[in-house]
Amino acid sequence: MSTQTDVERDVVVVGGGPCGSTVSTLVAMQGHRVLLLEKEKFPRYQIGESLLPATIHGICKILGVSEDLERAGFTVKRGGTFRWGSNPKPWEFSFALSPKFADGASTAYQVERMRFDQILLDNARRKGVEVVEQASVVDIIEDGDRVCGVSFVDASGVRHEVRSRYVVDASGNKSRIHGRVGGQRRYSEFFRNLALFGYFEGGKRMPPPNQGNILGVAFESGWFWYIPLTPDLTSVGAVLLPEELDRAQGDREKALMELIQECPMIADYLADARRVTEGPYGEIRVRKDYSYIQEKFWRPGMVVVGDAACFIDPVFSQGVHLATYGALLAARSLNTALSNGADETTSFDEFETRYRMEYARFHDFLVAFYDMHQDESSYFWKAKKVINSAAPALESFVELVGGGASNEIALVDADTYAKRRAAAFQELSSIVERRARGEIENHELLKASLIRSVAKEGHRIQIQAAVGENVDGQVPVRLGGLVPSADGLHWTVPAKQLVAERMSPAGLPAHDGQWQ
Ligand SMILES: Cc1cc2nc3c(=O)[nH]c(=O)nc-3n(C[C@H](O)[C@H](O)[C@H](O)COP(=O)(O)OP(=O)(O)OC[C@H]3O[C@@H](n4cnc5c(N)ncnc54)[C@H](O)[C@@H]3O)c2cc1C
Repeated sequence: MSTQTDVERDVVVVGGGPCGSTVSTLVAMQGHRVLLLEKEKFPRYQIGESLLPATIHGICKILGVSEDLERAGFTVKRGGTFRWGSNPKPWEFSFALSPKFADGASTAYQVERMRFDQILLDNARRKGVEVVEQASVVDIIEDGDRVCGVSFVDASGVRHEVRSRYVVDASGNKSRIHGRVGGQRRYSEFFRNLALFGYFEGGKRMPPPNQGNILGVAFESGWFWYIPLTPDLTSVGAVLLPEELDRAQGDREKALMELIQECPMIADYLADARRVTEGPYGEIRVRKDYSYIQEKFWRPGMVVVGDAACFIDPVFSQGVHLATYGALLAARSLNTALSNGADETTSFDEFETRYRMEYARFHDFLVAFYDMHQDESSYFWKAKKVINSAAPALESFVELVGGGASNEIALVDADTYAKRRAAAFQELSSIVERRARGEIENHELLKASLIRSVAKEGHRIQIQAAVGENVDGQVPVRLGGLVPSADGLHWTVPAKQLVAERMSPAGLPAHDGQWQ
């Protein structure tokens, strides 16, 4: 096999799922040269169809795909309905219950992933990412301790080597590249489930306005998801507890139909439905959904993010949220490190710390949620405790399961960044015009917020520290940590007085130690 050496890029991203598309777009938006390599030809099937408001009104807004999503006509999800815990009756929640999801941001979508992932990948192309499909990354290239590129095989079997300053592994749960970041993938001893799932036409819908809610129903052998994808099409999956895993062996159709009959609420919803047996939805699939987390998320020249880095039980549909929020955090670190003079370790440690914190919030809450002897009010209290919130218990629960517990402006008030960019452009144009008329000196130009916060100049961190710009009054999540920059796409140094006043010495949330 011949090998061709391609020209150097700033970043090579492996995988074109929501994580890979997000990180590559947010880096390319800063003018860096990004190559995204995707093994499959899109559209390709993927599970993970129920999304959170923080993804739709936060990350997707920053990516600039809100109108594309609206046009796609996905089912609007207002919240969730659960038959879960000691309460024999179904209970529900709506995202609108949390002020974090106010002003039209209290909904999400149920999406066909083939269409959703295509929208994000097309957007990445439009924003300047070079996307190559049917390009399978087979290895990473190292130079001493540093990762400096990848080898991939293209659609015609030609092997290529491409050099880059950074490699992002966003290749999902199956690919093996994540091991090259160092350390092990640690599996949870608690969440060792398996999902068996298929698609049905003609299933019932919940009464309005909750017809787009996700329905989660616990039963003897585990729990079911019931996701209304279109008015006619429903995604239905049984998540089996470890002691029931054998049931997914052998005839999958028989197993799924038997499980449905064992769960009266799902059997009722599917009473008049027909299983889809053709096309991408015709297969009954099995996915081990064991939860895991990498011991390391980055090493010099390489970062691992999305399902490649960690996965947590899907009962609250946070997979795409974690993958795209992780992508935003990684993009900030890449953008910061690619600016001259920024410290790589400080920058990537910030990504890793915040990403682990978000993962831990869901993990610790979900461990409690699997205790079927409790009722919903006890789950709400647990959520309040896990996110350490002053809000009432139900609000805290909604904040967590909507993806808004990290207090990230990017997730709950993404318009701020758009408005700030528009205002900064206006400010800059007016300053440039005044300079041209000789009304101001050059140093005034340096004070323009666009220059301070958006332009790709080197020494961003130092400049922002020097001008004392404290963005959004945010405090770091750990001592010595960074905060998001004014444009939301880099890290910056927080203002000292705020850190001193409001920073607690707390580190990562405690883990319960159930990891192998
Ligand atoms: C049973 C189950 C139910 C779930 N339900 C939900 C849900 O309701 N809501 C939700 O948000 N999440 C859900 N998830 C999680 C969700 O599927 C994932 O978290 C999400 O898809 C992760 O996105 P990603 O971009 O990291 O990875 P992926 O979506 O897996 O994308 C990775 C991409 O990398 C490509 N790739 C792999 N190897 C290579 C290679 N060597 N070279 C180049 N490309 C490569 C793949 O082809 C793929 O396109 C569920 C998961 C499971 C298992």
